[in-house]
Amino acid sequence: MEPWVADLLAWYRSRERPMPWRGHPDPYAVWVSEIMLQQTQVETVRPYFARFLAAFPTVADLATADDEPLLKAWEGLGYYTRARNLRKAAQRLVAEHGGALPRTAEGLRALPGIGDYTAAAVASICFGEPVPVVDGNVARVFARRNLLGGDFRKPAPRRALADWLSPHIAACGDPAAFNQAMMDLGAQVCTPRGPRCGVCPLRPGCRAAARGLQADFPAPPPAKALPERTGTALILCDAQGRLLLAKHPGERLLAGFWELPAPERLPFRVRARRVGTYRQTFTHFRLTLDIRAAKPLADSPTLPEGFRWADDPAALPLTTATRKILAAHPPA
Ligand code: SF4
Repeated sequence: MEPWVADLLAWYRSRERPMPWRGHPDPYAVWVSEIMLQQTQVETVRPYFARFLAAFPTVADLATADDEPLLKAWEGLGYYTRARNLRKAAQRLVAEHGGALPRTAEGLRALPGIGDYTAAAVASICFGEPVPVVDGNVARVFARRNLLGGDFRKPAPRRALADWLSPHIAACGDPAAFNQAMMDLGAQVCTPRGPRCGVCPLRPGCRAAARGLQADFPAPPPAKALPERTGTALILCDAQGRLLLAKHPGERLLAGFWELPAPERLPFRVRARRVGTYRQTFTHFRLTLDIRAAKPLADSPTLPEGFRWADDPAALPLTTATRKILAAHPPA
């Protein structure tokens, strides 16, 4: 066993968090707890766990549960598919396994609602199988300790980490403690922000802590590819040097703001030449505007509603794009 594994286990044993499902003799109870803990905090799960086991004390009770009491017992915990899958799995266990849980991660994974993480958790905690749990918390710990790149929401880097952890959990002699230590460490010490390196058992070998790189690992997920929108904005002045502005057509956030008009909104013809490009990233899209300086072909075109000639555009509420474009390309 490597020293960091010994440190991890010693740390876990010295401060084991009491939880009603930890050390529970019934694999069914551990399975229920692990399903409840998916997407839900430990403190939220505690009362639900007790109520659920009181309502459905055995796999056979759960297998024959009616919808209403089942959903009532889950009410407020959210993600109700979890409860339905638990019952489906219980029915399979009764029909195919005499009501007992499979003793390996592979066997558990074949049941509805059980993925890699839950299968590894139940198999290691209940049956001592040396299969590592790898979720976002565990990935964060090792991305930092070992300075690993990669996007751990994807299966390949998770599998690679599980492969790296496998010989360590196999050699440690206590897979249940190893995995539960990893869960606790990720949830309580190596937290996303402000990791508590001073009390961390992995501190001696942690490369991120040694180099002050905790905030850089794991690498932030790549920026989402946003849809692109393009358009044209006209900087168009009349003979008196007044700038043409249009009311923003949107009804919500930008209602009431003025902006440079797009040529397709104009009721008259113009002569225009390109003077630049403007780019802005919004939450839901990226905008690229062609900026054109323009002159109306007719002398005094009539403006429809929603347009105005502005002597002093800066005095009006302008959209950010228009403000920045005018700062970069002052109307001639
Ligand atoms: S030393 Fe700090 S960064 Fe490294 S594993 Fe521990 S808590 Fe995380």
